Amino acid sequence: MRDELAAQFKSWNLPAYRVDQVLKWLHEKRVAAWSEMTNLPKPLRDQLAGQFSLHTLELVRKQGSRDTTQKFLWKLADGAMIESVLIPANPALYGEASDRLTLCVSTQVGCAYGCKFCASGLDGWKRNLRVEEIVGQIHAVERWHETNAERETGNAEQETTGAPDAPVAAPRSALPAPRLINNLVIMGMGEPLANYDNLLKALRILNAPWGGGIGARKITISTSGLAPQIRKLAEDPLQFRLAISLHGATDETRNKIMPVNRRYNLAELTSACEDYQRKRDRMITLEYILIAGVNDALRETKPLAALAHRLNAKVNLIPYNKVDGLQWVRPTEDVQEAFLAALEKHDVTATLRREKGHDIDAACGQLRLKTERELAQS
Ligand code: SAH
Ligand code: SF4
Repeated sequence: MRDELAAQFKSWNLPAYRVDQVLKWLHEKRVAAWSEMTNLPKPLRDQLAGQFSLHTLELVRKQGSRDTTQKFLWKLADGAMIESVLIPANPALYGEASDRLTLCVSTQVGCAYGCKFCASGLDGWKRNLRVEEIVGQIHAVERWHETNAERETGNAEQETTGAPDAPVAAPRSALPAPRLINNLVIMGMGEPLANYDNLLKALRILNAPWGGGIGARKITISTSGLAPQIRKLAEDPLQFRLAISLHGATDETRNKIMPVNRRYNLAELTSACEDYQRKRDRMITLEYILIAGVNDALRETKPLAALAHRLNAKVNLIPYNKVDGLQWVRPTEDVQEAFLAALEKHDVTATLRREKGHDIDAACGQLRLKTERELAQS
């Protein structure tokens, strides 16, 4: 954070302009090492290197290519793996039209919430991501694009496996690199609101003019329904967008697939969302994965519509992505369309994600799972 760096530099008797120099290197030029900050005196660079780790994420594997969804699998300093997903603009889903790209960011290694359909929670929770590991995902993807995007062919099946010890290096120019990512969805691996403090610190950095410069309204936080933290978020000065992973509009359906609902049931979740809305005056999105035989019956559309009206929310229908080792399947397209039509008949604003490239678009957590399983076998 800027204040922390400023306090540190003050205690080292350094002039204030050094803080801005460092922030420029970190957030505009996105360097991967203190030694690259060539306008800082060498002793200061060494001092910084001794005090703060600038370990950047190491690319293990990448799927997809330029015009499609691209998945990045990163290895962290302790060997843990996380994913980030770069998504071409889809104005219908999250906010206004955009000519640039959305990055889906992870907040934890694994997840403790154990939703029955999700790959991220299958092997449990390992740890929270640190602030720099959250911010680092944006930097690492932007660095990767600076060096590699022009070489890409547009082949959706392309898969790159990075040499394990090759950092993502970038050429440095005098001008700051243009920002590639201008929308964030906090929907990667992990439950964002369970890593509340680190997430909010990271988002403040990504939002600050001296940091990422990404507007709070272009940042969507998705939660499985941690009601107390939703209330806390409602008090935050930054106006983030909120998405609720609902997936069931009755306690009966939600209890079947989301253990979190036993802790914060629908009444409690709804009340927290109302609180958020009262304080925010901002439309909430209800995410609803369609899973065959679990929550796709037309009778579910009535309570879902009632909830959407009560919260003045729009509904995103997402056909389930198959996860290896889990028995759930996505409904047929006819069932998906009928569900959408029924919601619209109830005057709900709803969208249905009509995906191509099912394998590559698969939900977060799966590339890590696949890679970890392959590593375990070899
Ligand atoms: N933990 C947070 C954010 C990460 S999950 C949350 O649950 O909201 C991001 C979204 O992907 C959630 O809506 C989640 O329910 C959904 N998801 C998980 N597994 C999926 C799958 N196999 N197919 C489609 N969506 C999935
Ligand atoms: Fe965790 Fe979200 Fe997956 Fe549930 S859906 S297990 S909360 S990442």
